[in-house]
Amino acid sequence: MKAARLHQYNQSLQIDEVDLPKPIGEEVIVKVGGAGVCHSDIHFMKGDWKDILSVKLPLTIGHETAGYVEEMGESVPCFSKGDAVAVFGGWGCGICQACKSGDEQLCNTPRWPGLSQYNGGYAEYLHVPSYRFLVKADGLDPKNIAPLTDAGLTPYRAVKKVRHLLNPNTYSLLFGVGGLGCYAIQYLKLLSPTNVITVVRSEDKAKLAKEMGSDFVINSKTNDVVSEVKKITFNQGIDVVIDVVSSNETLTTGISCLRKKGTIVLVGLMGTSFNLPVVESVLNEFNVIGSLWGNYNELTEVINLAKMNKLKILVNHYKLSDVGKAIGNLESGKIRGRAVLVP
Ligand SMILES: [Zn+2]
Ligand SMILES: [Zn+2]
Repeated sequence: MKAARLHQYNQSLQIDEVDLPKPIGEEVIVKVGGAGVCHSDIHFMKGDWKDILSVKLPLTIGHETAGYVEEMGESVPCFSKGDAVAVFGGWGCGICQACKSGDEQLCNTPRWPGLSQYNGGYAEYLHVPSYRFLVKADGLDPKNIAPLTDAGLTPYRAVKKVRHLLNPNTYSLLFGVGGLGCYAIQYLKLLSPTNVITVVRSEDKAKLAKEMGSDFVINSKTNDVVSEVKKITFNQGIDVVIDVVSSNETLTTGISCLRKKGTIVLVGLMGTSFNLPVVESVLNEFNVIGSLWGNYNELTEVINLAKMNKLKILVNHYKLSDVGKAIGNLESGKIRGRAVLVP
C-alpha cells in the first residue's frame, strides 16, 4: 500500500510502498477514507517535538482518520467488513488511572497514530491496535468526517469543560477560525447560550466566523482586541477564553480581556509559555484550564452531532500524492476548514 512517510525532520514527506500487517486478536485494518491534515503534523514534521515525542523514523503521519473496516483479527466483536468508522486517536493502555477514568488520550504510556511509534492515516490503510478505538459512523462519509476525530473533537472537550460557566449574560472569546476554531464557535452556540466573539486577521476569515455562528468578530489587523472587547461587552470583559491557538501573544491578549472570575482554556500548542500576572490573577480569581484532545465518549458525541446534521463541516479534499500541497496551503493559511487527504 501507499503511505506518506517522514524520513527526516524538516524534509518533505515521501510516498512509499509499504507492507500492510495482517491483523491478529483485537486489531483492525481500516481502509482510509480520509485523513485530516493538522497543524500538529507540521510541528511534528519540523522536529519541534522531537525531544518530547521520541520516535524512530520513517513514520507515516496522520492522527485524524476515518474510513471503512477492511480486515479484523479473530477477537473483534461488533464490527463487520465495510462498516464506516471514525478512528479515536488516543490509543491508551486501557489500565492506567487516566484510561480507566475514560480519558485514554491522557494515558501514562500514550500511543498516538502518526505522532508516536505507530503509523498514522496518511496512507491507503491504517493498522489500528484494537477495535476499542473505532467509533461507528454509519450514514456518514469518512472523507468528510475524518477531521471530527481531532479538529472537531478537541474544541468539543474544551467547551464541555466550561459550559456550566456560560449563560446569555456572558461573553466567550476565541482566536482564529481555522480547523479547530470553526468547531469551537459552533459548540459554544450549541452547548451554551453565550455571546461569542471571534478574533480574526482577515475579512475573509471574518466572514467565515460569522457563517459559523459567531455573534461578533474583531479583525486584529485593523483593531486593538482589548479595547474592542471592552466596547462589545460594555466594559464587562470576557467570561471564558477558549484559546485554540495558545500562542504567547493570544494568551497574553486573552488574559487581558478576562473579567473577574474569568476562565482561560489552553487548547492550542503554538506558544512556549505565558506570563500569568500574579496579583491580578489572585485579585480577580482567574482560572486557567488545560484541555487535551478528547476522549472516546466525547468522540461518539461529536459523531452523533454530525449524524443529527447539527455541524457545519468544511473540508478541502486532496489526493494522497498532493500531501505536500495540502500542508503548504495549511501553513500559508489558505485552507477554509480542514484539508483532508483522500487516498
Ligand atoms: Zn491534530
Ligand atoms: Zn493508559
